[in-house]
Amino acid sequence: MSNIRNFCIIAHIDHGKSTLADRLLEYTGTISKREMKEQILDGMELERERGITIKAKAVRMNYTDKNGNPYVLNLIDTPGHVDFTYEVSRALAACEGAILVIDATQGVEAQTLANTMLAKNANLKIIPVINKIDLPTADVDSAYEQMKEGLDVDAEPILASAKEGIGISEIVDSIVANVPPAVVNSDEPLSALIFDSFYDSYRGVIVIVRVFDGKIKKGMKVRFIASNAEYEVLEVGYMKLKPVEFDSLSSGDVGYVVAGIKDIHDIKIGDTITESARPTKHPHAGYKEIHPFVFAGLYPNSTSEYDGLKMALEKLKLSDSSLIYFPETSVALGFGFRCGFLGSLHLEIVKERLEREFGLSLLVTAPNVVYKVKTKGKYITIDNPARFPNNADIEEIWEPYVEATIICPVDYLGAILELCQKRRGTQTQMKYMNTKIVVLKYHLPLAEIIVGFYDALKSVSKGYASFDYEHTAEQQGDLVKLEIMINSEVVDAFSVITHKDKAQTSAHYLTEKLRGIIPRHMFEIPIQAKVNNKIIARETISAMRKDVLAKCYGGDITRKRKLLEKQKEGKRKMRQFGRVEIPPEAFVAVLKID
Ligand code: GDP
Ligand code: MG
Repeated sequence: MSNIRNFCIIAHIDHGKSTLADRLLEYTGTISKREMKEQILDGMELERERGITIKAKAVRMNYTDKNGNPYVLNLIDTPGHVDFTYEVSRALAACEGAILVIDATQGVEAQTLANTMLAKNANLKIIPVINKIDLPTADVDSAYEQMKEGLDVDAEPILASAKEGIGISEIVDSIVANVPPAVVNSDEPLSALIFDSFYDSYRGVIVIVRVFDGKIKKGMKVRFIASNAEYEVLEVGYMKLKPVEFDSLSSGDVGYVVAGIKDIHDIKIGDTITESARPTKHPHAGYKEIHPFVFAGLYPNSTSEYDGLKMALEKLKLSDSSLIYFPETSVALGFGFRCGFLGSLHLEIVKERLEREFGLSLLVTAPNVVYKVKTKGKYITIDNPARFPNNADIEEIWEPYVEATIICPVDYLGAILELCQKRRGTQTQMKYMNTKIVVLKYHLPLAEIIVGFYDALKSVSKGYASFDYEHTAEQQGDLVKLEIMINSEVVDAFSVITHKDKAQTSAHYLTEKLRGIIPRHMFEIPIQAKVNNKIIARETISAMRKDVLAKCYGGDITRKRKLLEKQKEGKRKMRQFGRVEIPPEAFVAVLKID
């Protein structure tokens, strides 16, 4: 029987997954205490700051038990946030077991539930761990009860403190004893599942694989089944904290493959690598094609950064297969890209990574969902409100919906029901996990949750409610296109799709907001909101008085000049629209519509 155990850790965010991973690396001697930086797997600077793990990663650990039996433990780290369900599912397909971490002070939360369901669907052996028992507020009994009742997990949990190193040896023993050993079919034709990839500037694309059948080694000619691309393997090895070269990866193993891959389109997460000369009959079919649900425009703040942005997106896509993008031109913003994301957090992360890792300065337009519109008898798909047909030509608008799960203490129930109501939600379930915790299910338009919903939920529940969702069928909605005119001209980048009943509120909000952001000019600027050629809100920016300079200080001419220059610098980033200059923040302001 194989001595390989492939497992992942699943948990709601902040329940201690990364901390536990650190302890496992320490315990198995994969990294010494001295080398240990906290939460070593959260390598990306951004992840470290946000405290969330964005990318699935694999680490190989060696472990020898009390009786001297050696084991290989491959830990596959998964993200815990709602937007990254797809990444979790990719990682799960490479494992046979999952450590389910539950914070004893929080109990079961929405992603605990969602990830447990995913792990069950992937037929993983679940090892429950109740973590943070060192804290005085730990309530092990309640966490245990919620685990049994809410998750339907029967196994006896291991009590642990990842922080203090309590329960770690029990967890490792349980992995060895309970996670099914990887099945080894080394003589079969090669079948290796790609579950992650990243770009190395020297060696091209590096893929992380789980080998199911056969062997992969240096010099082998291999084929990527989905893209039909052929390459010669240049190097294979294991992922320790850094890649370590090895002769071959065999059935059961997890490791990396370098094949001088330059064309990133050849790599598809979820694809199977096989040997060209002896192709497998069992390509992996475990992954669904992922569709982005939220779209936004990304524009460089200066046109000279366009090529840089294009390259950065290409590279980012490698380690983030769920990101999609295509070129777009906007009258107001120039050349940029329309990008598709899994959710609004995903959007934020991509923006920050582009800015930090690639040194770009970007403007992001308000996010929107993908609509299906019937116009002149035909259905079209629209991912950009600016491209919406005129209201008069719209026969039907269909919008995406989600089935949201909210887990919250009873005390905040009223406020949460009200919030969901306001966001056009329909309740489909209300279940008590115990006397204190409720599980709510809501049918909600996706458009209502991509902006500010999560923050609102946290705020009305003092941070106690947790939230997760999955996509369901589209539904027809009473939606309208709200357009904004600045100085009597429509600015497409400000168009939003809104529910009929909310159009008036949105119109006031937008016009007021823009009045506050657009600076005064030498002339009066009307800001109008219209639906169906009917103006439903108006604000006016009054003209600037000519003596603006005269007002600042008396005779100090250098100071005046400096001021003028500074003003000019600031203006370089403004967008000229007709005779009006609009500052970039204005295009982001529409983000915050409530
Ligand atoms: P993740 O989001 O699941 O990866 O959670 P992290 O490992 O980043 O942990 C979230 C926070 O909980 C961090 O501040 C950790 O230091 C803390 N933490 C994790 N495990 C324990 C534990 O056993 N006891 C205590 N007191 N804190 C813990
Ligand atoms: Mg983490």
